[in-house]
Amino acid sequence: MTLLNARRMSLPDNRASLRTHGAKVWKVLELSRTAGDFLAKRGIDAPRLTAELLLSHVLGCERIDLYMYFDRVVAQEKVSEFRELIRRRAEHFPTQYLTGSCEFMSLSFSVGEGVLIPRPETELLVEACIEVARDMEAPLLADIGTGCGAIAVAFLHELPAARAIATDISPVALEFARRNADRHGLSDRVEFLEGDLLESLRPGARSVDILAANPPYVTDGEFGTLQAEVRDHEPEEALVSGPLGTEFHRRII
Ligand code: SAH
Repeated sequence: MTLLNARRMSLPDNRASLRTHGAKVWKVLELSRTAGDFLAKRGIDAPRLTAELLLSHVLGCERIDLYMYFDRVVAQEKVSEFRELIRRRAEHFPTQYLTGSCEFMSLSFSVGEGVLIPRPETELLVEACIEVARDMEAPLLADIGTGCGAIAVAFLHELPAARAIATDISPVALEFARRNADRHGLSDRVEFLEGDLLESLRPGARSVDILAANPPYVTDGEFGTLQAEVRDHEPEEALVSGPLGTEFHRRII
């Protein structure tokens, strides 16, 4: 955390004005703990961690800084901002949508409503792709249903001579994917195409070295049983396949 941020967290000269507003003065760790306890009562997973992630997001610092600056006073407007995030998290709005980012393969990705939050298991798929491509001179990967671009971006980040084509049917997802390629300086090695599965690859009849996809696989029946975070907030078209769960895999194969 920069000194500037550290200062923003403390209000050494403002106690009088805070008191005149009659609002409670919150210190960093006390605020985080109280919010964590609240989330725990509301049945939210990893409540303390979640509260720390959201508070460090609001304060623009690292999680560890909450402990280093545990007794700093938090500015009232930051308390209000944090309170609003905690309220939404208690209603099962995903943490990653609240912070606008998530980590995948140790890279930070921009995410938000309308795009699937990449899952840790998908890192195994990227590792397998990298393994296959490592001995190729200039591998070309097609990432079908790219979402926020997680697979294509992480693959390209690891292999400097590789290129990728990333497709999705959702313009919102492609918007996030473009932003993420840009963020990691990879835009010149990836082409984004909007369309149904492999359709957009047909013009020009390109052949690719690796076809990677993490397509929707939740069955119609399973959808209702998913966690509220996923069912109520992540895009249904990124999750649900049909009666069997294998509809997309069959079409791709
Ligand atoms: N690859 C990303 C996203 C997986 S979710 C990740 O692993 O995090 C599945 C993605 O497939 C969603 O982004 C969804 O918009 C996209 N999708 C769904 N139906 C599609 C179709 N018919 N053609 C192309 N993409 C599709």
